[in-house]
Amino acid sequence: MKFDILTLFPEMFEPIKQSIIGRATEKNIIEINLINIRDFSKDKHKKVDDTPYGGGAGMLMRPDVVYDCYNSVKSNNSKLIYLSPQGNRLNQAKVEQLAKEEHLIVLCGHYEGIDQRVIDKIVDEEISIGDYVLTGGELPAMVLVDSVSRYVSGVLKENSISEESFSNGLLEYPQYTRPEVFEGIEVPEVLKSGHHKNIDNWRREQALKRTFEKRPELLEQAELSEKDKKFIKELKKDFKKKEEN
Ligand code: SAM
Repeated sequence: MKFDILTLFPEMFEPIKQSIIGRATEKNIIEINLINIRDFSKDKHKKVDDTPYGGGAGMLMRPDVVYDCYNSVKSNNSKLIYLSPQGNRLNQAKVEQLAKEEHLIVLCGHYEGIDQRVIDKIVDEEISIGDYVLTGGELPAMVLVDSVSRYVSGVLKENSISEESFSNGLLEYPQYTRPEVFEGIEVPEVLKSGHHKNIDNWRREQALKRTFEKRPELLEQAELSEKDKKFIKELKKDFKKKEEN
């Protein structure tokens, strides 16, 4: 999968050259290209922004410079995502959907944003990483590239995402590693038993319990067996009892 990131600050992207994403690019499983929008300015001072018509605070990125930058990388199967606080909120379903694309062009705004005409002309989808405003689209672009890359085949071991939070509609169960006793707290006995069926049951119940305690609204959409439903009924009863005491 190929990402072309259009940005005024390519030097901000060091973090996605490290660790898992860094290794995936070295192995050519994913390709990440940083394209400096400033290189497309025709101005002798390499200016890329200007004041907004009608007045108002801050500067806007010029449409012609962004358009020329986009045209230098677009392809027949490219999809252009503009990171914007006004976009659809990024979630697991969207991440998995984007991971099926072959070529994502990721446009990072800066300053007060980008002239609306070029947004209307080239953007396929606007995506937000949350209801707050950042100084630029660079951090959101890294969030997008990192989260989407994890779902590209070969980036992670096959089974490492199947039980993660959100992938089956639930939060993930708690996990433990060595030492066996930490500050007097032992690893749950069942995890040391070697009994796979009991371990699976325990993990499922813990995932249900965590989701019930931290994000109960997720249970409404999750695929639940009759056994799961019975377990949740018990959790609700216990919760009610605790509230009454
Ligand atoms: N004036 C814009 C508005 O009120 O909608 C905000 C512009 S913001 C200061 C500058 C750039 O940061 C945006 O063009 C966008 O690329 C990026 N950005 C800021 N917050 C974001 C968020 N929550 N999600 C995605 N991108 C964001």
